[in-house]
Amino acid sequence: MATGSLTIDLDALARNWTALDRASGPGVETGAVVKADGYGLGAAHVARTLARAGARRFFVAVAEEGAAIREALGRGPEICVFGGHMAGDTDMIGDLDLIPMLNSVEQLTRHFEALPGHPFGIQLDTGMNRLGMEPAEWAAVRDIALAAGPRLLMSHLACADEDTTGFNGKQLATFREMTEGCGVPRSLSATGGILLGPEYHFDVTRPGIGLYGARPFADAAPVVTLSLPVIQAREVEPGEAVGYGCTWVAGDRRRVATVAGGYADGILRYLTNRGTLWADGHPCPILGRVSMDLITADITGLPRMPDALDLIGPDQSVDDVADIAQTIGYEVLTSLGARYARHYTGGTGP
Ligand SMILES: *Cc1c(COP(=O)(O)O)cnc(C)c1O
Repeated sequence: MATGSLTIDLDALARNWTALDRASGPGVETGAVVKADGYGLGAAHVARTLARAGARRFFVAVAEEGAAIREALGRGPEICVFGGHMAGDTDMIGDLDLIPMLNSVEQLTRHFEALPGHPFGIQLDTGMNRLGMEPAEWAAVRDIALAAGPRLLMSHLACADEDTTGFNGKQLATFREMTEGCGVPRSLSATGGILLGPEYHFDVTRPGIGLYGARPFADAAPVVTLSLPVIQAREVEPGEAVGYGCTWVAGDRRRVATVAGGYADGILRYLTNRGTLWADGHPCPILGRVSMDLITADITGLPRMPDALDLIGPDQSVDDVADIAQTIGYEVLTSLGARYARHYTGGTGP
């Protein structure tokens, strides 16, 4: 084993979807957000697993991602594109039966002219100022849009997992005002919104991060294990340094392991002299800089020489790593590089 090994527990993924489906409540359809290669875990495996668990509507960021999901799932499931109908996407949207969430009058016009009769949804901006039609813009085209029968009216919460100013309530009220009486299925909530309670659920929920086992879904089953093989180990004497820039110097005699994995694999360089790798419950602090392909860690006192050290696993969650690296689980997962051997466990077949 020369590269790091990323193990993805598809049963845990399916259990997380089922739990969020239950949390979404009866009569609410639970979709699945599989953008960014299924949050770095492999969009095809993830989408097939979630389809088997019961998801019938998938969300991606851009049309190209939708193409990969359509290939994995075949005809049937709905694939919605948050980025809407962008210039140049018409063939892909038409041929692969993707559903663009139209974000502006410009996109609405493009869609109606290029693919008349083709399904679409509408994304509304309720205060995040990122994507979607603002209230005045929506008011201007609402009748035309509704006459064409949109599949979904959606918006996105800015502060679902960290609301300190009551912003969720404002967005909820705005969303209601913009969509009440339209007679079209509505969707407001990602993982964080599902946890806010039923008034945020509407007809369709859109969980992403919770499926993959990270905050804000505190009860999520862990999905990912990341294990880095030990290439070499050595004794380091007092006064000797380790790694680029000699940023760590031994105060006493230490045993240091060098593992395969570095920032080219998405292991954030900020973990330099801060992060910890784990060997079956034993912490092995990272010593010196995280380099492109290698990390050095303290294995002094381990009962035996480890074959590999874990960055993510039973001893340290995705969120633990995110906290140490001063980031969020989303970034830890979607940074995972292409060099790992990916192993999928559970699931029922390819
Ligand atoms: C990414 C995204 C989601 C999923 O969000 P999570 O916080 O990962 O559950 C839902 N809706 C939109 C518009 C998104 O961009």
